[in-house]
Amino acid sequence: MIKQLIKNIIAATAGTLGWSLVKRGDKKLIVLMYHRVLPVTDARYQREEPGMVVSETTFAMHMQTLKDENLPVMTVSDWLAQPESAKAPLTIAITFDDGWLDNYEYAFPVLKQFGFPSTLYVVTDFLGQPAPFWPNKVLTLLLSPEATITPEWQALLKLTGEDIKVPMSRDAAAEVIDKLKQHSDHEIYQALKPIPAATNVPVEMISLEQLLDAKHNMQVEVGCHTRRHYRLKESLSGAQLVEEVVEAKDILEQKTGTKVTTFCFPNGDFSKEAHQLVSQHYDAAVTTMRGINTLKNLSPHSLLRIGVHNDISDTPLKFKAKLSNFGRS
Ligand SMILES: [Zn+2]
Repeated sequence: MIKQLIKNIIAATAGTLGWSLVKRGDKKLIVLMYHRVLPVTDARYQREEPGMVVSETTFAMHMQTLKDENLPVMTVSDWLAQPESAKAPLTIAITFDDGWLDNYEYAFPVLKQFGFPSTLYVVTDFLGQPAPFWPNKVLTLLLSPEATITPEWQALLKLTGEDIKVPMSRDAAAEVIDKLKQHSDHEIYQALKPIPAATNVPVEMISLEQLLDAKHNMQVEVGCHTRRHYRLKESLSGAQLVEEVVEAKDILEQKTGTKVTTFCFPNGDFSKEAHQLVSQHYDAAVTTMRGINTLKNLSPHSLLRIGVHNDISDTPLKFKAKLSNFGRS
């Protein structure tokens, strides 16, 4: 009880005092990181990891808060290109990772109302696909009320540990996913292969046609988030790294007919080689490292972001505390 009270007081202080401090001093860029935006009643919301989603109403409240605070919203690329003297004390950039269809359905229309631009980091091989990411495949398996462990799960259980019980809660499933992240993406996809995939899985990723509509009519900048969402760790071969960083860019440029100049590291992971390759081929790259970019600490290929999800940002005060870089997750 007292712990919660203290937590609330700290959050309120961060949302007021902390926020007023952020707006002063060196010129800053806050890059917001969103994944999915969905109505709470949507089945996709219920299936998703809590840390990956904001509700449609929370998202609209965030945008209203930015407007109420009179903050300029622009893309990372535009902010970097802006001369120092023209930069506002605090600018906001809005980014979405992965290329979810729900961004097109629920977030972009809100952004259009506010006249805010944004950047969508697309995984090129996933355009127009049903849930192609392993965390979602795993979640579907673990949360489904009909879930039962069969011999086909053998390889997966080797990676998760044998002691899991299905169906499980969303929080328990999130822990399993965290544990799986220790293994390479390739290993996890191999382990999932023998398990029959759920049938009738709807398309969950934005299609090329929708992406072009967003780009032309909703001020959405197209950024690259690799070809297959492989984490760019040391374990990746040189050829795989080129496919994920350089080929992905070429494919996206061909498909959209525009230059793609910004990149987003999957899961925020990168080896030294990956960082070098990205720096050679892109003007800017965003990470999952948490923080606020200032002109003094600016590193255009390792931009800091602030991840936002529903549980930690569902009031304007909590959102401003988050923008002030308060709290752990
Ligand atoms: Zn991603």
